[in-house]
Amino acid sequence: MALHLHCQRLFTGLDDTLHHDQTVVIEGGLFRWVGPRAQAPALQPGDTQADAGSHFVMPGLVDVHTHLVFGNARSEEDIDLGCTAEFRALRGLFFAQRVLAAGYTSVVVPGDAGNCSISVRDAIRAGLFDGPRIAASSHVVANRHSLNDWFPEHVGTPDYFTGRLCETRDAQLQEVRRQAKAGVDFIKIALDGTHLRADGTHIAAFTQDEVSAMVAEAHRLGKKVATHAYGKEAVLQAARADVDVVFHAFFADDECAEALLAAGSAVAPTLTFLRNNIEFSLPHEPSRTSGYLAMQQRVVEIGCRNLRRLKAAGVPFITGSDAGFAITPYGEWHAREIGILVDWLGFTPAEALRAATAVSARLMPRGRVGTPAGAATGAIEAGRHADFIFVDGDPLSDVGVLLQPGAVAAVHVGGQRLQPELRRYDRWAVSDFNTLKWNDLYTRERVATLQLQP
Ligand SMILES: [Zn+2]
Repeated sequence: MALHLHCQRLFTGLDDTLHHDQTVVIEGGLFRWVGPRAQAPALQPGDTQADAGSHFVMPGLVDVHTHLVFGNARSEEDIDLGCTAEFRALRGLFFAQRVLAAGYTSVVVPGDAGNCSISVRDAIRAGLFDGPRIAASSHVVANRHSLNDWFPEHVGTPDYFTGRLCETRDAQLQEVRRQAKAGVDFIKIALDGTHLRADGTHIAAFTQDEVSAMVAEAHRLGKKVATHAYGKEAVLQAARADVDVVFHAFFADDECAEALLAAGSAVAPTLTFLRNNIEFSLPHEPSRTSGYLAMQQRVVEIGCRNLRRLKAAGVPFITGSDAGFAITPYGEWHAREIGILVDWLGFTPAEALRAATAVSARLMPRGRVGTPAGAATGAIEAGRHADFIFVDGDPLSDVGVLLQPGAVAAVHVGGQRLQPELRRYDRWAVSDFNTLKWNDLYTRERVATLQLQP
């Protein structure tokens, strides 16, 4: 019982070409045959046919950096302090519908407290709910002064935090093993420190020996490894340890490019978060008044220069949006990263679309169907999961159409058309539990300037 889908316009994700008058045969959740309609296999008894009409047919998109359980947070406190892990998981399941509706049939979730994304993944995988395929993680492995060790030393990283402080090599290895047993698909390590040297360069929070040991152990246990690394030191450590993906890599140089190529590591710039903040945040918001925005503008300027050099060297690029913050709400801006590859990093639309599909899909765990390793997703090719979308418009001329409301006309996962319900919700009850009350300092002088007194 196969479905023969006729496509006037088909982009497979495997080459840069738009293929015309194609047929895609789908059976048992997999693509079984893909090729010119004239050569398609004959219909067998029980087979059905459908026509994609004028839609542009392409693989389901992959976002390798969606914080599915952050709840569109406004602050780090909001992510970790506001609500229970159980509520975060339920909320993540809810927002997964919006991610799916945007055409994203696979997401990588880089770090969250406890077993939140593992639970969301398992509920969807078991067929209890519709949703995208999920590569799940657990706590971000952190060290003193690294990313995710945000709070003062006397707070540390309680169990309900996204980060887990692991201060010794033994503790780091134990955390990798604990997460592997809990069922993660990959380990996330916060390699960058938040401290800078006097010359402005980032200081990595781990030693090379620690990073190499964690990555080797994760790989031995069959898990992939993702690292947050802006600075040159952290990028080099990641590459020399053979990590699977480096997020950001803004301060990578030619030495890093060589090491990344040797390791076969992919780079996910994840610039959407920075671009949204630079372009959308309002003058009175702490992201502007605190100097954070000025720092981001500098990072983007230098980062784009360095990333273009990594691209020229042949380092594979993949796409993530850092969705899950108030500046990057679920389902809204995922495809902006594809446009950034084109606008800022010199990709052709076809290259950027392949980065967002077949190349990004390399990070996804293989599914259970098919070969012993399971089937892959990310491209329209016989043997892969039948994850694909219909688009109104031509992303090969302008990838920006993917951001147009309604442009993603249909979403299919494993050959099934899914129609996620975009239910309205109470934005103030779903996240934003922080107790911040004022953005300004109301001295008499300021009040007079603002003309607040009658
Ligand atoms: Zn992130």
